[in-house]
Amino acid sequence: MTASAWPTCWAPLGYGVTDTPEGADLVVLNTCHIREKATEKVYSELGKLREQRETQAEAGGPRLGIVVAGCVAQAEGEEIMRRQPAVDLVVGPQAYHQLPELIARAHRARGERLAADFAPEEKFDALTAARNPTGVTAFLTVQEGCDKFCTFCVVPYTRGGEWSRPADAIEAEARALAEKGVREVTLLGQNVNAYEGQGGLAGLVKRLARIEGLDRIRYTTSHPRDMDDALIAAHGEVPELMPYLHLPVQAGSDKVLKAMNRAHTAESYVRLIEKIRAARPDIAISGDFIVGFPGERDADFEATLQLVREVGYAAAFSFKYSRRPGTPASAMPAQVAEEVKDERLARLNALLDEQARAFNDAQVGRELPVLFEKPGRHPGQLVGRSPYLQGVHVSAPDRLLGQIVTVKIGDASRNSLAGTLVGSGELEPV
Ligand code: SAH
Ligand code: SF4
Repeated sequence: MTASAWPTCWAPLGYGVTDTPEGADLVVLNTCHIREKATEKVYSELGKLREQRETQAEAGGPRLGIVVAGCVAQAEGEEIMRRQPAVDLVVGPQAYHQLPELIARAHRARGERLAADFAPEEKFDALTAARNPTGVTAFLTVQEGCDKFCTFCVVPYTRGGEWSRPADAIEAEARALAEKGVREVTLLGQNVNAYEGQGGLAGLVKRLARIEGLDRIRYTTSHPRDMDDALIAAHGEVPELMPYLHLPVQAGSDKVLKAMNRAHTAESYVRLIEKIRAARPDIAISGDFIVGFPGERDADFEATLQLVREVGYAAAFSFKYSRRPGTPASAMPAQVAEEVKDERLARLNALLDEQARAFNDAQVGRELPVLFEKPGRHPGQLVGRSPYLQGVHVSAPDRLLGQIVTVKIGDASRNSLAGTLVGSGELEPV
């Protein structure tokens, strides 16, 4: 089997995990529907898997089972079955907890297709029991879905409305993770800061921060509209809450933001960042950007560059606008030519790269607490993360794995930092 997300819940079926698809009994393709490129890739991967199944069968090997999971499965299940008859099972994100049962059924009768009932609570509880952290960091889903309906985006259609998991269940899972040695959790949600449990996301963060052994908390992804005062204040009050915030803005032109239905302006976003920085001055900001949204003119794009200069990003993801069937923006006039998108993306990336580089360079000479996560590429080396999510390479003994240790940063590149241990490396700063 090739999959990393749910191995333990499949163990009862006799599956283990392999590193490569070759020779596997079952391959699960986890898919993303957000942009057209990601979707098209699914079909080319499926073509390759079908060939592999044939060669494997000719060589007398195991029959290769093919499962498509994720949002493409959810949105285009029937289309997948029609275009690629080799697929055994299609399963949307709302039904992962039923996977063992579905796989067993697919073994008996191929071509089983799932009609996923949306039962999120049941799903998370089932997956919780199965979760088996392998490292010192873990993801913890606290929220799903989106009601924002940005005009370019398929998420509200593929993942349904906003839903928050009960805080008690989240806390129980966080405690279990901490007991298994997890030191850092990242709270996940399509709109994580729309979390609706008591006290909102700020309340949840404070509750989790009290758990012994859980020293670092992050969350992603947030919408500027849901960044409330309590959450902003928490960044100044809760030392466990790491000074890094992914807060996508998408564009810097108010005309484009309005057409995107983002419910914020460039100005209100910049004010928000100022407020967050007032609460936590060293916070690193990252963002998402779309270039070439329908109707985006040169002046609109310049406004995006201007906003980027004003905010100063530590990291960012930038995309060419991708026309998604069924979304309002796909029917808008004045779609932007591909060459114009290419050119704008290159200019935006050059600026974002420069900022990421400058942010990393600014750490040189500082002493930072680093959580060591895994061995490095070279013997005697460990890799960890700074509070700002930068990878940090350090010569350090294995016994420091899972520890938070002060590191003096000596070197920076575009993607990571390198440094040396301060003192014996036994000290654990808060
Ligand atoms: N909920 C998050 C982001 C979810 S999707 C938010 O609102 O910020 C992740 C990113 O994919 C988005 O931030 C956006 O930048 C990008 N994206 C979504 N739909 C897209 C599309 N049709 N074309 C290009 N990029 C898109
Ligand atoms: Fe998509 Fe995020 Fe907008 Fe929701 S808030 S529609 S997930 S981009």
